[in-house]
Amino acid sequence: MGKVKSLIDREEEFAGQDGSVSYKPPKSIFIALLAATTFILIVVGFLFWYIPAVGLNNIHPSLPLIFGIIVLTLILFISTAAFAVTIAVTNGKDIFRSYRLRGILIKFFLPLMVMLGGILKIPRIKIEQSFIDVNNQLVRAMGRVLRPENVLILMPHCIQYVNCKIKVTQDIRNCAACGMCEIKDLLGIMTEFGIDIYVLTGGTIARRKVYEKRPDVIVAVACERDLTSGIQDAYPIPVMGIVNKRPQGYCIGTGVDVSMVRDAIRGVIGRA
Ligand code: SF4
Repeated sequence: MGKVKSLIDREEEFAGQDGSVSYKPPKSIFIALLAATTFILIVVGFLFWYIPAVGLNNIHPSLPLIFGIIVLTLILFISTAAFAVTIAVTNGKDIFRSYRLRGILIKFFLPLMVMLGGILKIPRIKIEQSFIDVNNQLVRAMGRVLRPENVLILMPHCIQYVNCKIKVTQDIRNCAACGMCEIKDLLGIMTEFGIDIYVLTGGTIARRKVYEKRPDVIVAVACERDLTSGIQDAYPIPVMGIVNKRPQGYCIGTGVDVSMVRDAIRGVIGRA
């Protein structure tokens, strides 16, 4: 029987894979797509006004003006939102209260940007990595200092060493701290910060946990796709997303950079 690889062996082997993590993810992808999407929306908005304006003039001479004001207001709103998000991301300062615009970013811009990225043949995973990074920056820029008990930490079950027989999904404290997976380190984080950490088997359980706990902020570890949909589902609750490590591929023997979990917690509870 082959020797079981320790966590240290796996850490040494981890070099990322295609479709895995490439930190620091390029924020520039997101900002470029945001700018391109906004530009397209402005052009579409203009055409949306211009083309029917000819017909509207025949109904009443003031209708093109009224319609134009409505379209212009929408365009200004969208452009301001995109500008505010870009400033918050590039400066790290929430000067426009842009966290309030997270909803527009998540619900409105992101689907359009994924669509545009598909047309431009930008890999979806890159857009998602970029989005998660931008989202985290906006959450940090909120500058809220929260009590540890109002923070919810969610981990995927695949983070547990695959041959471990201990049931940590009921209580992470069941972990015997053998060190074969990062759950041992997460136990240390629980004690250090006094925050509950949950290891969950799927999105439905995660949603139920969020409903039960009603946290002020969530720190979640998962792959890019699950984090992106989780951030969308959890809105308006802010989520700090941490992309997992996948030395063996998706959903098996995954890991997490524990220092990133620690930094994310420090960022939201304001402890250095
Ligand atoms: S660290 Fe805990 S959860 Fe991980 S393999 Fe060891 S006992 Fe199991």
